[in-house]
Parts: sequence; C-alpha cells; structure tokens
Amino acid sequence: MLDTPGFTPITPTADISAERHGSRAKCLQRLVRMDLSVPQTVAIPFNTVRAIAGGKMPDLNHLIGLFEGQPLLLSVRSSSQTPDWGGPGAVLNIGMNDKAHAWLSNTLGDCVADEIYLRFIRSFSIEVMRLDEEPFDEATTPAAARAVYEEEMDAPFPQDIAAQLSVVLQSMARAWDGTSARLLRQAKGAPADAGLGLVVQRMAQGMGPGQSGAGVVQFISPTTGEPQVTGRYMGQAMGRDALRNRENAIYLTRDDRGPSLEELLPEVYAELLEVGARCRIRLREEMQVEFTIDQGRLAVLDAVRCPRDARASVATAAALARDGIIPRSEALLRIAPETLSRLLHRQIDPSARATVLARGIAASPGAAAGKLVFDSATAQASLSRDEPCILVRRETTPDDVRGMHAADGVLTERGGTTSHAAVIARGLGLPCVTGATGLTVDEKKRCITLANGTRLREGDEVTIDGSTGEVLAGRVPTSEPALDGAFGDLMKWSDDVRDIGIRANADTVADATLSRTFGVDGIGLCRTEHMFFDGSRLTVMREMIFAETPPDRAAALERLLPMQRDDFTELFKLMSGLPVCIRLLDPPLHEFLPSQTEGIRALAEALDRPLSEVKARIESMQEYNPMLGMRGVRLGIAVPEIYEMQARAIFEATVAARADGAEVCPEIMIPLVTARREVELVKRRIDAIAGAVRAETDSTFEYRLGVMVETPRAALRAGEIAETAAFLSFGTNDLTQMTYGLSRDDAGRFMSAYVNEGVYPEDPFGTLDVDGVGELLLLGASRGRKARPDVTLALCGEHGGSPEAIAFCRLAGFDYVSCSPFRVPVAKLAAAQATL
Ligand code: PEP
Ligand code: MG
Repeated sequence: MLDTPGFTPITPTADISAERHGSRAKCLQRLVRMDLSVPQTVAIPFNTVRAIAGGKMPDLNHLIGLFEGQPLLLSVRSSSQTPDWGGPGAVLNIGMNDKAHAWLSNTLGDCVADEIYLRFIRSFSIEVMRLDEEPFDEATTPAAARAVYEEEMDAPFPQDIAAQLSVVLQSMARAWDGTSARLLRQAKGAPADAGLGLVVQRMAQGMGPGQSGAGVVQFISPTTGEPQVTGRYMGQAMGRDALRNRENAIYLTRDDRGPSLEELLPEVYAELLEVGARCRIRLREEMQVEFTIDQGRLAVLDAVRCPRDARASVATAAALARDGIIPRSEALLRIAPETLSRLLHRQIDPSARATVLARGIAASPGAAAGKLVFDSATAQASLSRDEPCILVRRETTPDDVRGMHAADGVLTERGGTTSHAAVIARGLGLPCVTGATGLTVDEKKRCITLANGTRLREGDEVTIDGSTGEVLAGRVPTSEPALDGAFGDLMKWSDDVRDIGIRANADTVADATLSRTFGVDGIGLCRTEHMFFDGSRLTVMREMIFAETPPDRAAALERLLPMQRDDFTELFKLMSGLPVCIRLLDPPLHEFLPSQTEGIRALAEALDRPLSEVKARIESMQEYNPMLGMRGVRLGIAVPEIYEMQARAIFEATVAARADGAEVCPEIMIPLVTARREVELVKRRIDAIAGAVRAETDSTFEYRLGVMVETPRAALRAGEIAETAAFLSFGTNDLTQMTYGLSRDDAGRFMSAYVNEGVYPEDPFGTLDVDGVGELLLLGASRGRKARPDVTLALCGEHGGSPEAIAFCRLAGFDYVSCSPFRVPVAKLAAAQATL
C-alpha cells in the first residue's frame, strides 16, 4: 500500500498542476472553474502512477469513496504533462458488473445494459488484459463474452470495481513505461523521466432513453483556422464512437449532408457554441471538446487543444491576439518558425496515401509532382507544353539552371544541403531532394533504378517532398501555399520586436521582388555568377573565359558589362532605399564550361573553333580540387578585368538607378578572402573604377566594400582584414566546409552515418556548428570589432535562415543575417522570438 496516494478531486480550488498531474487534469480543472457540467473527476499524480507501475497499488477504496452515488461507473484517461507526449488510451465503464448490469436494465433497458456490459468486457479483456481479439468476435452477448474471458483467463470475470480499477491503473501505468511509448514521446521532446498522470471520471452515459449520445466538436477549421463548427455526433454512443464509426455519425451543423445535431437538439447545440466561445476566452485557445448528451443534458467530458495544421496554427494565434485574448508576443511564441516555411510552399495533402520510393536530404521545402526529365532541354520542352516535370540529375551544374527554372522540382542522387542543386533550388523556391542514396540515376539512359531494382523512365510520374526528403510514387495530391492576413500580421509583429536585421540572398529580379514582399531589410548576398547562367549570357561568359589575349577578353567583358549593368540597375530600383550587397564572381571559371559532349560541340560552334581544341582547353582548366582552387578573390587577382567589369557595372547602375529616382547605396563584397593584401589589391582597383565612373558621369556616389569571411584564416585574421573592410559577412557554407575539411557537395554520402553514429549531433551544413564554426564566428567578430568598432557584422551562409543560428548571431552582436528569400519569414519570426 502507498502511504500518500495524493488522489485529488478536481474542484475549482484544488491544488492541481500540469507539472504534477498532467495537462488533461489541469484543463479539466479550468473547465470546472468555468462552471461547465463536467462529471465528477479525481486526478492521480505522476508519483502515484510511478508507484503503481512499480507494483505499489494505493488504497483504491479511498479513491472510489471520493465519488458520490451508486451504481458507480468510471472512466480513466491519461494526463501527460504536455498533450503531445501522448499516453495510453481511455478505458470506459469500469465498475460494470452483474449488479450494475441489472440496475442499468431497469433504468435504461436491457439493450443498453447489454451493450455497455459487452463493450466493457471486450475492452477490459483486449486492451487491459491484452487477450487476443479474435475469440471475442463471435461473442455478441455479455454472457458469451464473459465465457470467453473466463476460458482464456481460467478465472472469473472480476466483479469488484476496486479489482477492475486496480488492473486498469496498473496496465496504463506500465504502458507508459513501454519502450515504444517512451521513444515516441522522447522524439517529441519529452525528457527521459517524463511522468504520467491519470484522471478518473464518473461516466456520463451517452446510451439510454431519450436523446443520448456522444460527440466531439471544434470551432475552427483545422486546415484554415477560420471559425467553423465541425465535428461528429452519434446517438446511443460513448467516448469517441462518433469519430470511429463515421457511417452512423451525424455532423454538428445544419447543411445539406443530412440530419445534424443543430436540428436534432438546437438547445444543446447552442450550449456547445457557448462552451466553445467561453473556452476560447478563458483557456486562451481553440479547443476540441468531447461531450456526452445524457437524456438531453450536456456533459463536457474533456477538452484538448484543437488539432490543426500550419495555416490554421498561424490564423488562430493571430486571431487570438487580434481579439485581445493573448498578447502579440505570445502569438509570436506560439508558432514554431518552421511552420511558416510550410505555409510558403505546396505541401503533400496529409490525408493522401503515398508510397515512398526513396529517401534523400530535404534540401528545399515544398512538394512537387511531375514527369521525370533528365536534362534542361526536356524540362524546357515540358514547360512549353505546360506539363509539370521533375528534373533528375546525378548532381547539378550551372548547365542545369535553365532546366531548374523550367522544372517544378529537382531530384539529385548526390549532394547535401549546400550543394549547387540545394542552393539554387532554395533561391528559386523550388522543392528539392538531394543525396537520394536509395536510387541510381543514369542520365544517358534517362532512367532511375531504385534499390529494389525497379526502373523509372523519362515521363514516369513521381512526387518529391523537399520538406521531408521523400520521393513518392505517382502524382500525390498537394495543397496550395497560403499567405493570408494572419501571416502578414505575424510578420509585422515580428518586425516590431526583432533587433537583428534580416536580409535576403537574392540574385535575380524575381528573388528581389519576393524579398520585398516579405519586407526584408535589404539584400545581403547577390551571387553575381547566377546572372551568367542564362542561355545567351552563358555563351558570352564562355567566350570571355576562352579569350587568349587581353583584347579578346576585354571584348567579351565589354559585352557582359551592359548585361550586368542592366541587372544591377533593376535590382537597385527594386530595392530603392535598402542596401544591396553584391558579391564579385566566386566560382571557379570552368564551372561555366560545358561538361558533356553535346554542350562542348555547341560551344565549339559558337566559338568557331575545332572541337578538339575546345575539349583540350576545358581539360586544361580542370582543377584537382576546384573548391580550394582558382576561385573567389583569387580570380579577382589573377584575372582582374573581371572584377573591374563588375565594379563598373555596379557603379554605372548606381548612377542610372539614381537618375530614375532610386535611393542607392551599393555594397560590394569580396569572396573567399584569406589575407589583408588580397583585399587591398582588389580595393585599389575598385576605388579606381569608382573614381573613373564618377568622373565620366559627373556624379558623386559612395559605396561600401566588405569581405566574406569564408576561410578559417579570414576569421583568425579578421582584425587586420577589417581595417580595409566596412563589413564582414560570414559565409558559413564555405566556412563550415573548410573548418571541417568536409566537401559540401560530397558530405551527403556519409552524413547520415555520421549523425546516426553520433559523430556529429546534426549535419553542420544544415545546423550551425556552434562549438567549432561558431567559435570562429565569435573570434572573427570580436577581432573585427576591436580593430574597427563600426564594422558591420553579418552571416550570409544557408544557416542565416535557421532559428538557432539567428539566436547565436544576435547574442554575438551581429547586425544582420541573410538567407534565401523563402526563409525570410522563418528568420523574422525566429529573430522576434529570440528577443521575447
Ligand atoms: C558561403 O560560403 O557561405 C556563401 C554564402 O557563399 P556560397 O554558398 O555562394 O559559396
Ligand atoms: Mg562561399
């Protein structure tokens, strides 16, 4: 026997807390305080349930004695600290025995008494005693079911309510300790020692003469969050019967689908609406209410937070704040930032059935369905026929960008979260799965082979889910993105409280337009190379790369200049009043060259050179380790005309956009710096170009020159580098790659093994490695600030859109983070939450 069972009747003044009795017990107390007709309930605390699991059963006659009236039928429900953590299912009608059966026969009739007794024997036998279900299938009367029980157990069916309750409590307490229940709740954030409370409630019978039944009601649409009464009700039913037995259930509200509770019992319906409205105000939440109608009288058995998807969560939090029920700060805290990312993209319809063909890395969120295509030309042909398609490649290169523009989604066999495919797809808001290890892509034969040997060919339909990394068979239904007023409110409220800037990584006018829609503080990274991937420009770029003499190169750059200038002018005009940070060319030049024979032949034609010569030239430009080779500022020093052309384009665009009334303050950023001297050399040339453009155009303009801190050395030498840089922007993609010595394009192959083995807690390309890369950020930031107190500090790698990295940068005193346009809402909300 346990000395202090702590059975606490739930009354308005009882000492009940979610931390000791669980959230269901606490919620029931709130319903009692609201004076709703809740059947008499007693809470059993975590420590008592723990003792029960350990074999120490408290005095249950004491518990039973707390209930008034006879005969007594009870239900037991689980009450975990947080509803998400789950718990064993409810057991109803404990106390049902021969005596209660006789009494119910007299009061409610034989049929009802038989039904209740039969159902109790079944649930006690199958759910509590864990007997096989099959032998009970034939037993249609209480006597028959009892016989099956007694045969299986070799013991009489227990008649004593305390004996029944004892077995039920022990079974629920032990189920909570089971391995799968423990793993499930730990996956939802429950600590290892999370406790279970139980609530014991007097049954309100939904079976009996007159209007009796049970149902569940909620007052918002679970998909949009709009006010809407939905739910089910069933006559002569109990618990959640109406949800389990949909054919015999009716809807709550009057419409043309058949009879409704509103017509059947208008007063009870009106009372339920009142319950919903009062819960909303008093519990400050939209609740789903479980109720029983006992001969026309409403009893509220339970209420839980109404289940809802992303859009409804946002709408509900905003509506509660707009109605003054919760403060805006609480509305902001109630939404997990990732929820917004789901709002911005199509999602797999949660009710859809889908077969998973393969799994990869969730590289860019959203779902897309379409026919498989294996190259850009076919993707573009699909687009011209208005046929959605999924572009499949082993991995993508700049050649594939036009295909990505045309496709609805991208799937690659190789690559991780910062691979070319992933970065471009996120920028385009295109669903993308990379590193799909369970499949092999054969680009030549235009097919995919799955792990089980199945082949998918060009034209076959698949759906990819870039939010989960799944590749699904066929065309799976998806739901549209939803940016409504609630989303706008949440963004505005975030802006009001956040104290770190949020800029966008935007390369094109389309990116910048989207960024402005989301109300960014500027562009933090414009990767200029993406402006050259377009068909005709790529050819000029290739001519520039192939130029053998300075005059030939100058001629090609001369053709590229107006293209860049026009792009920048558009960008400046669009972003008028906000800073635009343009990064000078970064990737190795050979990335712009074709890798396949068709492309090389086309290039030879365009250049009017022999194929063999073009091939040899491309080969001569290959590097053993291009990511550590001729790229970034090294290009700027080895082939200075490229940066000069870009600087001229930026300054001329500044003058042009200003002439059109735009307010422009350009920022120029040098990538992959390792030493101060690199910055000095580039700065001298850019300053000279600025002076020339000022003189030529007779105008005055200022610009800010900054450095990307992407190498460990740049972080270590940030002090001296900051002396020649107005801002330091940490490129955590390369910085992570170089700190770990881990290729961002190849890590996908073994990252899951590393994470599974606990070598790294997470993929460091997805989640900022606060311990290692983070230390370099702190070190670089403090050395930079010390040397130049007004230096602007920023982060512009993919981590810029992650809530953890934003909180880290904020604490480190960074001025802004910059992320893909589609991550901006997530980043804003995360930044706001970090201040609350
Ligand atoms: C980075 O390295 O973090 C970065 C932003 O540059 P990119 O991804 O273009 O290499
Ligand atoms: Mg980089």
